[in-house]
Amino acid sequence: MRAMNRNLILNIVRSQGPLSRTQLTELSGLSVGAVSQIVNDLLEDKWINEVGESDYTGGRRQVMLRLNPTAGYVVGLKLMENRVVCAVSDLETTVLNYLDEPLTGSHSPDAVAETLAQIVIHALYQTGITRDHVRGVGVGLAGVIDGESGIVHYSPFFHWQHVSLAGMIARHLSLPVYLENDVNTLTITEQLFGSGHDVSNFVVMTMGRGIGLGVVINHQLYRGHKGGVGELGHITLEADGPLCDCGKRGCLEALAADPAVLGSVKDSFESPVTLDDVVQAADRGHSTAREALDRSGYYLGLGLATVVNLFCPALIIVSGEGVSAGACRLDPMFESLREHTFNGLLDGVEILVKPMDDQAWARGAAGLVVGKLFESPLVRSQSPIPAN
Ligand SMILES: [Zn+2]
Repeated sequence: MRAMNRNLILNIVRSQGPLSRTQLTELSGLSVGAVSQIVNDLLEDKWINEVGESDYTGGRRQVMLRLNPTAGYVVGLKLMENRVVCAVSDLETTVLNYLDEPLTGSHSPDAVAETLAQIVIHALYQTGITRDHVRGVGVGLAGVIDGESGIVHYSPFFHWQHVSLAGMIARHLSLPVYLENDVNTLTITEQLFGSGHDVSNFVVMTMGRGIGLGVVINHQLYRGHKGGVGELGHITLEADGPLCDCGKRGCLEALAADPAVLGSVKDSFESPVTLDDVVQAADRGHSTAREALDRSGYYLGLGLATVVNLFCPALIIVSGEGVSAGACRLDPMFESLREHTFNGLLDGVEILVKPMDDQAWARGAAGLVVGKLFESPLVRSQSPIPAN
């Protein structure tokens, strides 16, 4: 009970601070004495700080309390097909060091786990943060990931099945390691620190190399069975459509992700192009480039309309590298979204477009660890991966 109350107070300070002791007592429903005792303990353990005084509003001036962002550090990694990005951050996910490393050599789970551990050690060494100040390591990657058990059930890039990756990395580092689908790490970070803060039902759709979806229902990340939620990229939109990386035909990803855009314009350019090149060509009036982005947007809108019809979110965050294509992709997306959403479900829904880069993915994985850290101790006692 004591640990629960301590966690409750810490979470209120983290999510709503700076707060006075009086506000904390009101918000927590605990007694004045209990709050005072817990606050003193948390101050002593340096989990929280006293910061100045609240505005003078006629009553007594009160010392405010906030989370000490350097009460610990976390490391976030995003594992991609041929690269790894790594961020060392404090507990507010302010990035202190960022590395972008190629993934060379064997792609066996053992070899990749060792490489990831070496990158973490190197990133920490550069910041001068010792391992005893690190609260955990978060790893985000595409695929069907069971965050509770730390198992990669399926990785489309490495073709792994049922690999206990979190445990394998933890053995190298002697730190807790948490694993999650990469879009879910972003979703958790939006929930903790971003636009999803205090929104009970929201979704995050990402577009780029793939197309992903994170879902928050009643303030909880929805993981479904075995973590296989959000494979939005693999809903079938054309039964006999183009072949997808997953082996099926006509998936949203095969029709609308960045590689699909690049594939459909490659014959009209002399050399290989990037998404930026296609966008610039479209802006200059290149008709094939325009059509490719328009078609991608159209199918993305169809996919997103299905998401709205299924989950009726209050907020949609549209993110991922592919957002950088801008209006020539997003306008047709919003048009088909409006056209294909069930009557009235889009009314009043807030839609935010958030451009992002690789560092944001690494920061998302760091946020995963912060999220674990502040979970109820009852939940937390079931989930860490033993570090031995
Ligand atoms: Zn597919």
